[in-house]
Order: sequence, then structure tokens, then C-alpha cells
Amino acid sequence: MTNIFVSPGKYIQGKGALKEAGNHIRSLGTKAMVIGGGHGLQAVSKVLAASCREAGVESFEELFNGECCDSEINRLAKAALYKNADVIVGAGGGKALDTAKVTAWRQNLPLVIIPTIAATDAPCSACAIVYTVDGVVEKIESSPKNPEIVLVDSKVIAKSPERLLVSGMGDALATWFEAEACSLTKAPNCVGGTCTEAALMIAQTCYENLLEYGLDAVAACKANAVTPALEKIIEANILLSGLGFESGGLAAAHSIHDGLTALEETHSYYHGEKVAFGTIAQLILQDAGSDMLDEVIDFCISIGLPTTLTHLGLADSDRQKLMPVGEKACAKGTFMANMPFPVTPDAVVDAMLAADAIGKAAII
Ligand SMILES: [Zn+2]
Repeated sequence: MTNIFVSPGKYIQGKGALKEAGNHIRSLGTKAMVIGGGHGLQAVSKVLAASCREAGVESFEELFNGECCDSEINRLAKAALYKNADVIVGAGGGKALDTAKVTAWRQNLPLVIIPTIAATDAPCSACAIVYTVDGVVEKIESSPKNPEIVLVDSKVIAKSPERLLVSGMGDALATWFEAEACSLTKAPNCVGGTCTEAALMIAQTCYENLLEYGLDAVAACKANAVTPALEKIIEANILLSGLGFESGGLAAAHSIHDGLTALEETHSYYHGEKVAFGTIAQLILQDAGSDMLDEVIDFCISIGLPTTLTHLGLADSDRQKLMPVGEKACAKGTFMANMPFPVTPDAVVDAMLAADAIGKAAII
């Protein structure tokens, strides 16, 4: 297997970056269809439209209906065709961005991603999760190319709820440990190659920056203020974690996240919150040592990421209750196979129970 590293064509981040969006979009097309949910469009609409106008780009908005499913993607693709859009812009987070991605790929149009929250590391990636109309995961759709442009206005992120930024840090927290596991086993990354030195270094810097700037970034976000610490964390959550996970690979932390979704009680918790707990469990599985474990758990507690089962709605969960999580996490075809040793459902349950106990003790 050869090493493969992928990335978006251009990454732009800064306070007021949205004002420059038109010029960047102009390099890809002259008629932009902007897809976003209510919140996403509200956050960018005025400045983006003005910026496009100034740059000589015609733009129009299509409100995302809330589900990234085939019927919605087909509706948007038809709108793009009917109105002769030659570039797709996605604004918002999660499913709205995924919908914009798949719409662009299926129409073979260039894609600009404008995240308005920094809650996951998905924006830079070349994959998207497609659901059924009822919201059940149907497939992961991927493209041979990442978004042409990812543009992040730090002022917009500073105005988003801090819990979303914290959740993004939970997603980013896993990146280094998962990339390291994949590199040890020469497991395939998310684009079918093995991990480059570049991806590993990026993943490591992601972790270091979380520890150094995470707490200050949360404070800044609470105050809706753009500071150098917030800039570092936005970059860690979106760019460093995005490149790190896609070109580094995923392992136990994300498998345990997927396992946790088997329990209804965890559904109201964000992706990154479950990934953070999965990261702690991964460190226990791989016997990372108490210094490393303390460092990660203290970090999680300091910024408000879950460190106990209670924090994920699973108070008083016993082995039997958690077993479906272990089973789903270790099922065939999961990222668990990327760990440097075989992991059983029983071992995952042990790791989660131990994580919970250590997390509880650390809080006291
Ligand atoms: Zn993730």
C-alpha cells in the first residue's frame, strides 16, 4: 500500500474572512448556489451576498430541508441545473455541509465549504454521510476530490455556542491517538493509503494545540471574542483534525463512538462528546499509561468534555447494558481493526467502565 495524503485545494481562516468569499468563489465560477440550513444561512447570508456581488459572482440561496438524504440531494441538484449554477457553496455545519458536498459531487461542480460552527472535523474531508428520509445512516459517500475551498470566518465561529466548539475539540482530541494507532499497524487511512509523516505531524500538532489553547478558546467563544487562542482551536478542530483523521486514519475512539450510538440515551450528545469518551477508552485499551491518561482526562474536565458514563446519559450502566456498545464497536468492518492488537467487545466494556471510574475519581 502506498502513502496517500489529501486536503482541500485552499483553506482560508480569519476574522472577517467572509468578506473575501466572493473573490475566492470567483476563481471557481460565476453563479453560486448557496446551500444552508436556517442558522447557517442567517450567519453568512448578508456578508456573503455582498461579497459575491462585489466580486461579480451571481449568488442565490437554497434552504436545506434538514435531512441529508437522496431526495433532498436530488431536489438541490435539480435546482442547480435549472438555475445554471456553476459552483456550489455549503454554509452551516453537519448535515447541511454534507448535503452541499454530495450535491456538488453528483453534479460535478466545484465546491466551497463555509462552516459556521467548529463542532467536527468533517468540513475539509472528501466524504459525507447520507441518511434515509427518516434519519437512519444509509451510506458514506466519498469523492475523489476534497472541497476546492474551505473558508472559515472566525467571527462567525466566535458567535456560535461554545458547547459546539468544545464538541469539535472532542473530535479533534482523538485524531493524534487514532492516526498513531493506524501508523503503527500500517492500517489504511480514510482515502485508501497509508499514513504520511505529514499527516502524523499534523495530528500531533492538533493534540498539542488543544492542550495549550483549548481552555482560553472556550472562554473567548463564551465572550463571542476572536482571540489568537480561538483561532488556534478553530484551525485545530477544522483543518488539523480534518487532515489528520482523513490522511491519518481512524481507530478505537471512533469505533467506540459508533458503538455508543447503539444506546438511545446517547443520541442527544454531540459526535465529539462521544468521541472524547471513546478516546479515553482507547487510551485504556492500549495501556497508554497514567500520565497520558491524566493529561487527557484533565483536559476534558477543564473544557467540559464527558469523562464519565453519566456525562453521556448512561448513569449506573452495568456490563450488560454496555455490551451492545462493545459489540457494535468491534463489529466486522469497523475502525477497531486498525488497532495494533485484537480488541473484543468485552475489552471495550472493561475500558469504558474503567474510564468512567477514573473520570469520576478525577472530578472529585
Ligand atoms: Zn469524528
